[in-house]
Amino acid sequence: MKAVVVFAMALAAGAASLAQEQPDPKLTEVWEPVPPVVTPGEGALPPSDAVVLFDGKSLSQWQSVRGGEARWKVSDGCITVDTGKGDIQTKQGFGSCQLHIEFRCPAKVVGESQGRGNSGIFLQGQYELQVLDSYNNKTYSNGMVGSIYKQHIPLANAARKPGDWQTYDVVYAAPKFKGDGTVLSPAFVTVLHNGVLVLNHVEIKGGTAYRGQPKYAKHPDKAPLRLQDHRNPVGYRNIWIREL
Ligand code: MG
Repeated sequence: MKAVVVFAMALAAGAASLAQEQPDPKLTEVWEPVPPVVTPGEGALPPSDAVVLFDGKSLSQWQSVRGGEARWKVSDGCITVDTGKGDIQTKQGFGSCQLHIEFRCPAKVVGESQGRGNSGIFLQGQYELQVLDSYNNKTYSNGMVGSIYKQHIPLANAARKPGDWQTYDVVYAAPKFKGDGTVLSPAFVTVLHNGVLVLNHVEIKGGTAYRGQPKYAKHPDKAPLRLQDHRNPVGYRNIWIREL
């Protein structure tokens, strides 16, 4: 046999044994479960399986933390903090979730640092994702917009100008507690502010504390979402949540 023929035969044999050693790609195809169909909303509007917490018209999903009706103002498709009326919270409780919420700090700049456009979104009523007008407004970094108040500094300041609508998209994993009240697993949160990643799966250290260190206190698996009255007329709109 000529050398070139021998070489070709060796190549063919090699290819055949290689084919035998390769696993069938079907072995790694997973067909079940099939994820549910969710129809996405147009733009930032709620997808088909979301719980709509504010549709631009009514505060029917909300109540005052002090008891009774939520007494914030509703006009032009948004809720505005009615300063001094206290925090409001959802009637329904939530655990791990995806949250979309839009907010607007007052166009007229009043105050500075923590006194300017301050509100907050308390996940499960405990853990504050800060709302603040951080557009050219110096304050402590772990208290600016995009922070978990006094726990986590955001990766960027993505603030829009005062008076402009801004978005938060939040992925939240609720904490789990043991029977004795101690923490089995802490909460984690990921936040996009105006589409910019500002918190990347950070561990929440406990309930938000103004003074001292945060500490966990056992709470139900599902707890209301709370919005803060920090005596600045911050607006909210297009609030929806998907339970995970
Ligand atoms: Mg606040």
